[in-house]
Amino acid sequence: MGVTKTKAFRVIARIAQLLSACEVARRSVSCGRFARTLNVGVAGLAAGFGLLIISGQLKTMAGEIVAIWIVDGYLVGHTLLLARRQKPVFLFGAAIGMLIANLVGDETLYVALSFTVAGMVETSFAALVLPNVKTARDLLRPATLLRFVLGACIAAPTLSGIVAALLLQGIFTSHPFSSFSNWVISDSLGILIFTPVTLVLLSGEWRSLLSRENRTKSPLLLAMVACVTVQVFSQTSYPSLYWILPPLALLAFHAELSTVLLGTLLFITIAVPLTVHGTGPLWLFPFPTMQDRVLALQLFTIAALSIVLPVTVLQTQRTALIALLAASERRFRQLAEHSEEVVVQLSAEGLFQYVSPRAKSVLGYDPETLLARKIVDLVHEDDCQKLKSTITWASTTSAEASVQYRLRRADNSYVWVRSFVAAMPASVSDNPATLAFTVRDIDTYVLSEQRRSAEEQRLKDLAFVDSLTGLRNRRYLDSKLNDLLQSVSVGANVRNVAVLFADVDYFKAYNDRYGHQAGDECLRKVGRCIEAAIRNGDILARYGGEEFVVLLDYCGYAESVDTAERIRAAVEEMALAHDGSPLGIVTLSIGVAQTALGQPVNSIDLFEKADSALYTAKRLGRNRVGEVQYV
Ligand code: GH3
Ligand code: MG
Ligand code: MG
Repeated sequence: MGVTKTKAFRVIARIAQLLSACEVARRSVSCGRFARTLNVGVAGLAAGFGLLIISGQLKTMAGEIVAIWIVDGYLVGHTLLLARRQKPVFLFGAAIGMLIANLVGDETLYVALSFTVAGMVETSFAALVLPNVKTARDLLRPATLLRFVLGACIAAPTLSGIVAALLLQGIFTSHPFSSFSNWVISDSLGILIFTPVTLVLLSGEWRSLLSRENRTKSPLLLAMVACVTVQVFSQTSYPSLYWILPPLALLAFHAELSTVLLGTLLFITIAVPLTVHGTGPLWLFPFPTMQDRVLALQLFTIAALSIVLPVTVLQTQRTALIALLAASERRFRQLAEHSEEVVVQLSAEGLFQYVSPRAKSVLGYDPETLLARKIVDLVHEDDCQKLKSTITWASTTSAEASVQYRLRRADNSYVWVRSFVAAMPASVSDNPATLAFTVRDIDTYVLSEQRRSAEEQRLKDLAFVDSLTGLRNRRYLDSKLNDLLQSVSVGANVRNVAVLFADVDYFKAYNDRYGHQAGDECLRKVGRCIEAAIRNGDILARYGGEEFVVLLDYCGYAESVDTAERIRAAVEEMALAHDGSPLGIVTLSIGVAQTALGQPVNSIDLFEKADSALYTAKRLGRNRVGEVQYV
């Protein structure tokens, strides 16, 4: 390519003028979008021009042989990163740049135009068959890689070779750049290597070379590729071409994609000049021309790349997957470790398989001391069965369950906990019966709940207690009697129920004589006395004022009269002085009413009858049991 210096300088000066004019125009344009578009066009122009000049120089240096065509590979890579509307602007700029560079390279206008058109067909076709990508890693994803290889690396160069051959019929064969196969293969190799390399450089992926883990490894691997290539291609004694494969394979397995691409670039950059200058294993084969020798080298490079790139792609995917898994593992471990609950994995038999560190603060156990122990061994014996059946239920039905129980802490105290149990999906664990299990400390909650319900019970009880005597009160008695009357008798025997209505005689006079305080004390004594005189299960209540009621269940006629008499006699025997009574001591009159369960009787009827019996006892002189009334 005989470029005369003066002409080249003239053209370069012209382009510099053009570029600075563009820059002035760009700055003066207020519309940012237009400026950006102009920038893209200028970048295309600069790239097309600059790279074509460099490629031309390399071709001249290599004796008019093109081993790898850089321009189109770069243009395709750059185009892929651009927005849809910027692509044609960039390619148009590049076409202008290439045309100018071809003219600078002493081609006629027709040849320069034909080369440019062929180049544009190649880059446009490649850019069209490929999706927009952001990185070389995106480009080398399996589905995209297939489109890249078939569409961009094979179809596009072939198409462009055909266009060039058609446009340059006659000229093409006599032109130094004349071989169709050299055109297609060097362009193919150029796209195969330079498109991803461009993406690596423009997307910033190259920065991974500087990362801590690659800083030493990558240069070493590249140095190894370089040394072996130099070694293999600087001698002509052994057909040791294939020795280049082990370092490339090592590179594929251990380096980042960007390093692998650099490694192949390094290989071809060393191998081609050495081969052209007369050394290397390809000189051991009787190739008719240098062109054929370089073709063999290109084919070897393509074959090597077809091994190295897929391995790198798979390796990159694997590394990304492992990183993803590790990140997800880390995230979930973090969650488990910082959760308020102890996170546990249990076997179907209830053995601890994983225990999160929270076990230390909640239960006092170091997690590893629990592994392979059974959870039920730590559970309060009263709750064991409950937990066992929950675990069995969750593991057999794959349903979720929650259970509340007491768990033994390391210091042997028990803590109330609530556990959420769920069978792990088979995709997570090989054993489908493995359980995800959480343990939440609810001790404070359960204890305060227990205290609250105890207090509630106490208040309820208070509502049924007579504050003066401590006996049950009328409310209690009414509800008890109603319950009793609604219950049914079991068995063949009649179940009798009796109500004894006791009233202190002349009590108003007692108060008048001894004062209200003494009256209260007298009522307490009478209450205790009645309590002592009845059976254990009989119910005694202070009904109001100086009246007491005893409720007798399973009590026949004789027994109820006996009980009433016993009560009356007991009070009489106390012989509490009562000057206000003609009898001289505190006495009781008692009315008895009796019924059998199953009768259509209510508590009001029964009390009325007992009251009427009491009235009779009073009328007959007091300190006696009135005749039993039946309902
Ligand atoms: P009877 O023999 O007919 O039953 O005559 P009584 O005086 O006992 O009957 P009455 O119904 O006239 O009087 C009941 C008295 O009981 C009136 C009241 O001063 C007294 N009393 C009622 N509740 C209490 C109490 O809680 N404490 C005291 N100290 N006295 C009470
Ligand atoms: Mg009374
Ligand atoms: Mg009275």
